[in-house]
Amino acid sequence: MHRDRWLCYTKAVMKPANSILSGYGTTIFEVMSKLAADAGAINLGQGFPDVDGPEDIRRKAAEASIDGPNQYPRMLGVPELRSAIATHNRVHYGLDIDAEREVMVTSGATEALADCFLGLIEPGDEVVLIEPLFDTYIPIIRMAGGIPKLVRLEPPEWSLPKAALEAAFSPKTKLLVLNSPQNPNGKVFDDAELDLIARLLIKHDAYAVCDEVYEHLVFDGRRHRPLMARPGMRERCIRIGSAGKTFSLTGWKVGFVTAAPGLLGPIAKAHQYLTFSTAPNLQSAAAYGLGKDRSYFDGLAAEMSAKRDRLAAGLAAAGFGVLPAAGTYFLTCDVSPLGFNGDDTDFCRHITTEAKVAAVPMSAFYEGKGPDHYVRFCFCKKDEVLDEAAARLKRHFAGILRPSPIT
Ligand code: PMP
Ligand code: GLN
Repeated sequence: MHRDRWLCYTKAVMKPANSILSGYGTTIFEVMSKLAADAGAINLGQGFPDVDGPEDIRRKAAEASIDGPNQYPRMLGVPELRSAIATHNRVHYGLDIDAEREVMVTSGATEALADCFLGLIEPGDEVVLIEPLFDTYIPIIRMAGGIPKLVRLEPPEWSLPKAALEAAFSPKTKLLVLNSPQNPNGKVFDDAELDLIARLLIKHDAYAVCDEVYEHLVFDGRRHRPLMARPGMRERCIRIGSAGKTFSLTGWKVGFVTAAPGLLGPIAKAHQYLTFSTAPNLQSAAAYGLGKDRSYFDGLAAEMSAKRDRLAAGLAAAGFGVLPAAGTYFLTCDVSPLGFNGDDTDFCRHITTEAKVAAVPMSAFYEGKGPDHYVRFCFCKKDEVLDEAAARLKRHFAGILRPSPIT
C-alpha cells in the first residue's frame, strides 16, 4: 500500500522519460527468468549454460585480478586480447586483420551492437533487419534515429524471402543486421543467402552489422561462414563475437568487434562514451581462451549438438512439433499438436507455472504480430536437467485429455 502511494506520487511529479525506451516493456528474458524463479521451474527460457565454462579460463581471470593491474585498460582493449581476436579471425576464417586498427573489445556483444548503431546511423537512415530477431536491435536503432525495415522469416522453413529482402533496401539503406547463427530460431544462413545479401549491400552501398555471437555453435559438421569473408565484404562488414557464448561464461560480457578502420573509427566513438573499457582480468582470460586449439571449439559444438538432440527427442516424446536447429543454444517447437487453448505467451506462462518448465514465446522476437504457436527452449543445460524438463512436460500433457482445451 505504502509502495503504491509512492509510485503514484512519483508518476504525478515526474516529467516524461525518453519516449522510445518508455514504449518498451521489460525484456522477455528477464520476465521469463523471474517467472521461472518464482515458480521454482526449470529455466529453459533465457539462453545461458547451467555449467560455467572452462576452469583454466576462469583461473586466468582470477589470477589476472590478483596480479593486476585492475585499472582502466586501453580504450580499445588490452593488446593481448586484440591480438588474439585478430589471430582467431585468421585461424578460423582466413581473415587478415590488423589488431591495432581493426579490433575493439566491448562490454558484451550487446554493447558492440549499440556502438555500431549509435556510431554509424544518421537520423533518417534505414536499417534492414531480419525477423525473428534479438530484442536489443530495434530499440537502439530507433534511439539512433534509424528507421527499421523488417523482413520476416516464417516457421517452419525460416527461408529468406528474396523479393521481400530486395524490397527492403532503398537509397536510404545504411545497414543490414545479419544474425547467423540466428537467435531464436537456430537458422544458419547458407551460401546462396549470404551471396544474395552481399549483392544487395554492394548494390545499395550499405554495411552489415554481423552478430556472430553463436559462431562456434554451428552443428552437424557445418562450420560458421562469416559474411565478412565473402568477396567484396571485407570493408562492408562489422563482425561481432562474444566471449560469453564462445566460453560458456555469459555473465562476463566481453564482446569482440572486427571491422575495417573506416568503420571501426565511428563505432569506437560510441564505445568511448558508453563504457570506454571492459574489465581487464576478463579480457586477459578471453585472450587465453581464444588461443585454445580447434579441438576446444569443435568440442563445444559437439557437446551442444548432443544436448540439442537430447532435448529434441524428449520434447518430441512429450508431443511437441520440434523444428530443426542448425546452430545456437535454442530449439523451436510447434505447440499446436498439444491442443493448448491460448497463444505462445499464454503457453509459456502456463508451462512455467503448471509444468514447472520455462520457455520463451517466439512472438517476442517479432516487432508486429508474430507466429503465435511456436516457443523457444534453451538446451545448454545439464543432461539430467534436460531429461527432467522433458519428463515434466510429458507428464503434464499426458495428464490432460486432448482435445479438451487447457486453461
Ligand atoms: N546477440 C545475440 C543474437 C544474442 O543472443 C545475445 C545474447 N546474449 C547477444 C547478442 C548479446 O551477447 P552478450 O552477452 O555478449 O552481450
Ligand atoms: N541472448 C539471451 C537469450 O536469447 C539473453 C540475453 C539477455 O538476457 N539479454 O536468451
